[in-house]
Amino acid sequence: VKERGGSNISVLTPDDHERLSRKAAIEKHLIYALDRKNLQLLYQPIVNLANGKVERVEAFVRWTDSEIGVVTPDELIPIAEENGLINKIGSFVVETACLQLKDWKSKNIDLQISINSSIHEFRDKDMAKMLLENLKLNDCHPSSLMIEITEKFALEAEAERSIMTQMKNLHQEGITFALDDFGTGYASFRYMLLLPISSIKIDQMIIQSITKQERIQKLINGMIQFGKSLDFQVTAEGVETNEQFELLRAMGCDSLQGYLIGHPMTAADLEKWLG
Ligand code: C2E
Ligand code: CA
Ligand code: CA
Ligand code: CA
Repeated sequence: VKERGGSNISVLTPDDHERLSRKAAIEKHLIYALDRKNLQLLYQPIVNLANGKVERVEAFVRWTDSEIGVVTPDELIPIAEENGLINKIGSFVVETACLQLKDWKSKNIDLQISINSSIHEFRDKDMAKMLLENLKLNDCHPSSLMIEITEKFALEAEAERSIMTQMKNLHQEGITFALDDFGTGYASFRYMLLLPISSIKIDQMIIQSITKQERIQKLINGMIQFGKSLDFQVTAEGVETNEQFELLRAMGCDSLQGYLIGHPMTAADLEKWLG
């Protein structure tokens, strides 16, 4: 057994065993779940402050396995990135989102869906093709889809020509890209101009600290003005209180997202919520 702070001989502890067997179980069950499309997307409303309307939703993957129980994205996505199943999750997300767009269109519900993408998905050279095919199949204009990428993704993409090319092609077709978790990464801004990014999403940890300190308010205000001066559309995520809402509105944020506005919900619940 591994000793606390002791030697660096690594023998697995009971905890390690539990973690590894859970991981193995997740891998095994995920393959079945993906084959049966037994995952789900929830949609969280994003309000456009210019007109007070919900014009975009962010899609989040949800998976509850009958044996393992709930597997949150924070556990699921890293495992899937490691074992390569992320590409299948990505296809599921794209297919489901495009079907949803078609369904909403038939109900005269005009919403853009923003999906989260891992760089592993873009290492598949057919990613752009897959995206455009799904959109076409469901009669959806590419502008109805937004793709959220992290700063880490953006930094790596800068060095991978084939990913840059795919992003540029998708951008030309009308798909928009947003930079997720802005402000938590590397403060390297070059990629913001190199990649076809049109939106930034200020990270929820920063947003949630907003009311505590004047300097944090100044920092967030600076981030918003910085984004706007470069013509990015600026979204704040993780808005939970009226105080945060009002401050961000006053600072000129373009759109807000968070539990205060609405939790991620099923498409049916979202339709009811929209009224
Ligand atoms: P993210 O893209 O930064 O998403 C925001 C997370 O915060 C989501 O958690 C969302 O449910 C949660 N959230 C939204 N509003 C609030 C709020 O007001 N307060 C708080 N405390 N939380 C809020 P979730 O769904 O568990 O997803 C976690 C992360 O997993 C996401 O972070 C994203 O990076 C990743 N992820 C989720 N779905 C997908 C997916 O379909 N594909 C990929 N590649 N990644 C995904
Ligand atoms: Ca996101
Ligand atoms: Ca985020
Ligand atoms: Ca995040």
